[in-house]
Amino acid sequence: MKIPYNKIYFSGNEVQYISDAVARRHLSGDGHYTKLVASYIEEKFKINKCFLTTSATHALEMACMLIDLHEGDEVIMPSFTFPSTANAVMLRGAKPVFAEIDESTLNIDIEDMEKKITENTRAIMPVHYGGVGCKMDRIMDVAEKYGLFVIEDAAQGVNAIYKDKYLGSWGHFGCYSFHDTKNYTSGEGGALLINVENEEICKRAEIIRQKGTNRTSYMRGEVENYRWVDIGSSYLPSDILMALLYSQLNNMDYITGLRKKIFDYYCKRLGKYVDKGMIKISNIPLGCCSNYHLFYILFHDGETRDFVLHELNKRGIMAVIHFMPLHSSPMGIKLGYKEGDLTITERVGKGLLRLPMYIDMTENEMNYVADNLIEILERL
Ligand SMILES: *Cc1c(COP(=O)(O)O)cnc(C)c1O
Repeated sequence: MKIPYNKIYFSGNEVQYISDAVARRHLSGDGHYTKLVASYIEEKFKINKCFLTTSATHALEMACMLIDLHEGDEVIMPSFTFPSTANAVMLRGAKPVFAEIDESTLNIDIEDMEKKITENTRAIMPVHYGGVGCKMDRIMDVAEKYGLFVIEDAAQGVNAIYKDKYLGSWGHFGCYSFHDTKNYTSGEGGALLINVENEEICKRAEIIRQKGTNRTSYMRGEVENYRWVDIGSSYLPSDILMALLYSQLNNMDYITGLRKKIFDYYCKRLGKYVDKGMIKISNIPLGCCSNYHLFYILFHDGETRDFVLHELNKRGIMAVIHFMPLHSSPMGIKLGYKEGDLTITERVGKGLLRLPMYIDMTENEMNYVADNLIEILERL
């Protein structure tokens, strides 16, 4: 049997919505579907202002422009994340400062984060690993104490909750991803969420997103022509992609429900090995409502992980590894970090394996993954 890691889910309405977007003859950004998606996100997740973008990477870049990051500034983030989190900071000439993660959630370790605050720190970028929320109430308290911005990298956190609020709605800014490796997708896509009620910042976001021009004001008929007024880039997704996304968001709870079923199944089958202390698995702490973005197994060391990965792959099961820590990557080394700086992060990077998860996974397929995995674990 061949079990891929991921398979894109289609609700069945995608083509109909895309055809409609094409028929409307507005293929560029901010058309009918872009507006529908933005309002949907603002209402559902209680966001002050949502700007759809071409990716989470671009949303992170926009947030770093909006807080006017510049050379000499530092931004604290976990090393256990995707390069986009750090690139957004580097592109402004500022420095990413990597903090350790908490082994129970693989989210930023708040004590280490606070220790790394200096007089140059401008912002904190928490990452919600696998759709499990960071302790945002504590992070916001620390940020307030030191006067820092919080930009949530909620790329994996769409439709997940920490305490009483959706991920992406806690920080001053939040960033979502709709890449096709994420739960709800437009192929490529993202969103910048602005939670501060600040007209000036929202206006500036419009301009940065429109190549540094006030074209959005012009489209609303507020000005006679549009001019170059600030820095910016081209961050608007095509309305065709937003039509696709709208169809996915309409099925969000269905998608989440089916992912939960797979997640719970893996938990049930692997519980015995967790109890024996052989492995750790994805864990959703009290107060978190996950979107079940992924299911991971954590081994004590890299050799065991690599062995299990290889054995699963040999049986056609496409389990995969995940983040390689940024601090010990070639770019991290160039910044002056080295292997040994963040030992928990390094151990997690080497010991983590993700199991296949896609929503039309059959019971037969889930069984096949678990049976084979258990057989391999029994041989360790
Ligand atoms: C996927 C991901 C990104 C990048 O998302 P894109 O939409 O592909 O740019 C950034 N950060 C994290 C934590 C991610 O998982």
